[in-house]
Amino acid sequence: MTLRIGCTADDFTGGTDVAAAFRRAGLRTALVFGTPDAGTGLPADCDAAVVALKSRSTPAEEAVADSLAAQRWLWSKGAAQTYFKYCSTFDSTARGNIGPVSDALLDAAGAPLTLHCPASPPNGRTVYQGHLFVHDELLSESPLRHHPLNPMTDSSLLRLLSAQTPHAVGLIDWHTVRRGTDAVREALVAHRQAGVRHVVADALTDDDLAVLGAGALELAVVAGAAGLAEGLGHAYPAVGESTAQPSPREGRAAVLAGSCSARTLEQIAHFYAAGLPALHLDVLAAAAGRDVIGEALNWYDAQDPVAPVLIYASASPAELAAVQARLGVAEAAAQVEELLGTLAAHLVERGVRRLLVAGGETSGAVTTALGVRAVLVGEEADSGVPWTYAADKDGDLALMLKSGNFGGPDLFTRALEGIPGEAR
Ligand code: ADP
Repeated sequence: MTLRIGCTADDFTGGTDVAAAFRRAGLRTALVFGTPDAGTGLPADCDAAVVALKSRSTPAEEAVADSLAAQRWLWSKGAAQTYFKYCSTFDSTARGNIGPVSDALLDAAGAPLTLHCPASPPNGRTVYQGHLFVHDELLSESPLRHHPLNPMTDSSLLRLLSAQTPHAVGLIDWHTVRRGTDAVREALVAHRQAGVRHVVADALTDDDLAVLGAGALELAVVAGAAGLAEGLGHAYPAVGESTAQPSPREGRAAVLAGSCSARTLEQIAHFYAAGLPALHLDVLAAAAGRDVIGEALNWYDAQDPVAPVLIYASASPAELAAVQARLGVAEAAAQVEELLGTLAAHLVERGVRRLLVAGGETSGAVTTALGVRAVLVGEEADSGVPWTYAADKDGDLALMLKSGNFGGPDLFTRALEGIPGEAR
């Protein structure tokens, strides 16, 4: 077993994000979907493994149970250190789940304290004096104060965490971080001696996160967003050849889109503008019993095998509202996810080997339909959007699973023309 670090991520897209961060740090990284069991395997020679859970907004007891199961599995694969990845906006409710999950992970590890830092400088998330900023605004004054599920109306990470744990919370301020790794280590020792269990650290830049990562290398459990994970990854000794990836060059390329996010709609428009073949799925017709899948497969079979194809259910806000009004929100989503999952399985059967999936929920439906439990993370086409290789399909299937708003407007065409294979 070579696993150096194991990670639990509190949502699916966060899992991809943190897995890409470990890989940027030079670690050969696997991403596992959902709570693994004894039979869940890992690709050979992984340095890092990320388990993507859905524990951000579930009841705290469930989030704790899933996170502990994932931690046990990661330990069983050899991980000496675990990282708890949460959102760079500290997305949580008044009572959890960040506090309860980190307490449970610490208890299980028998560890006295953990370091927290949600900073993600490339995305404008920084921490100063324990306050989280979103670009030039405090979190509590940013648009996130209106978040539909978890409105963030306080920027103080110390107050937010204190409300989620019975234990003491402390701060390593930016001036200490600027003094370097030894200063961070000394501050951690001082906090431990003072009985502090959750240490929030300031960070304004990726360099600060690298210092924190090196300072936290000996901790059994570390917590934060993708930025600190990358800092931690860089602190591990170089791993040489391990980021080499398989590169499937045979087989067809396809995009399946179920995201209705503005960026995905732009990416679809760009695909059309490039003159590539695209098909819109009629969700209402499918709900009315028409064989939309059969029609889509006939359409697919008639396309030039060299060109990537796009099949999408994505709809403009007005179209989406119309479908949801007819079918109900949950039924419409279930219908679309079923359609796209089934299509994914048929396309792979017909020889698709590079599949780009747009949408977080949609990606979950597609990996489930394909029976893909774990992937090896490859190169990023855009920040946070890596190619991945299905571990249980001998690396022969390349998947790009993107959150709706991720990637540049030309992502679909660029990703499928270039990395990882070439159009034949
Ligand atoms: P994002 O990452 O942008 O949030 P998701 O895939 O997570 O994308 O969510 C998009 C949701 O919208 C999915 O549940 C999908 O099934 C649903 N959806 C997509 N297209 C349609 C449509 N035409 N009508 C109704 N629901 C749709």
